[in-house]
Amino acid sequence: MEKIFLPRVNDLHFHGRSGQVLKDILPFTSEVCSHALFMPNIAGNEIVNARRVEEYRAEILKVCNPLFSSCEPLMTIMITPKTTPPTIEAAYNAGAVAAKIYPRGGTTNSENGIDDWDSHQLMAVLEKMEELGMVLCVHGELVYGAPEKIEVYGQYLGVLNEIEPSKREIRFCPIISKWCQLFPQLRIVFEHITTHAAVSLVFSLPKTVSATITVHHLLVTEVDVMGSHLNPHLFCKPTVKGYADMAALRAAAFSGNPKFFLGTDSAVHTKSRKEECGCAGVFSAPVFVEALIELFTEFGQLDKLPDFISNFGADFYDLPRASQTISYRREPSLVPGRIKESYVPFMAGKTLAWRRDE
Ligand SMILES: [Zn+2]
Repeated sequence: MEKIFLPRVNDLHFHGRSGQVLKDILPFTSEVCSHALFMPNIAGNEIVNARRVEEYRAEILKVCNPLFSSCEPLMTIMITPKTTPPTIEAAYNAGAVAAKIYPRGGTTNSENGIDDWDSHQLMAVLEKMEELGMVLCVHGELVYGAPEKIEVYGQYLGVLNEIEPSKREIRFCPIISKWCQLFPQLRIVFEHITTHAAVSLVFSLPKTVSATITVHHLLVTEVDVMGSHLNPHLFCKPTVKGYADMAALRAAAFSGNPKFFLGTDSAVHTKSRKEECGCAGVFSAPVFVEALIELFTEFGQLDKLPDFISNFGADFYDLPRASQTISYRREPSLVPGRIKESYVPFMAGKTLAWRRDE
């Protein structure tokens, strides 16, 4: 039987949630990962200061007992309009390795995100992060621009400032370039990139700037989300794009360039929340390694997979590379339609070509 061995994964973008949901989903990640970077946008109780960093880390460790798990949680803090350099420094001293910045209103629980991308306070925060050696994780989408009169083909549409979802990432690219110039030592991760423009930008910038790529953006296009009927379980932010953009992401993942590594952005919601409210997020944690093996095998790129899922991310974050491996065998496995009754995993009902050895 065909078998492969892969290093434990570094998932450098993960939504672990909290409470019962954390208990339900964490094993899917902790069983295959060496590190997981926990995003700070916990509903109603965001990680915005040192105390919350410590509390959340303690909650995770309770579920993922380090005595029995080889997965180490990495903590983040959310940058809000209220964040100051001392807040950041305290969070760093409490163990946060990265800070995450969201555009206000751009995705799940981002009401306290940023609108003013040039504010003096934000610049002071980024300067402090550069000094401390913290990583800046950016949800790089510009949701609101300056209000402007929009006229299309001579037809006046009104004074509008909300940018169309498909153009938000491209509109954010200049901000990444600017920060890279202003803070040359600051490590910046352009998170879950979705477009050819973002891939090109990251290739062109110095090695302090890298990008995470999700599994679903490598496998899904808008054809899958809304080509025939609307599939809410594939709806995510940033939205998936078309074939050309997916091809650019695959080329980046297959490139062997250390600037591009995995961050699953696995973000669970209950089935009812997905179907009734259309919450953004794809729950890929239960299947992402197997799905990636299939993709990389199909295109003859399997030799690039260990770097993409594990080594490049570890190197960028200054983590030790994973020493343990996990074996997978080529054997069909059906992805269940539901997990724990409530959650619909990515690729539900499909058959994967690989499965993890028990
Ligand atoms: Zn995310």
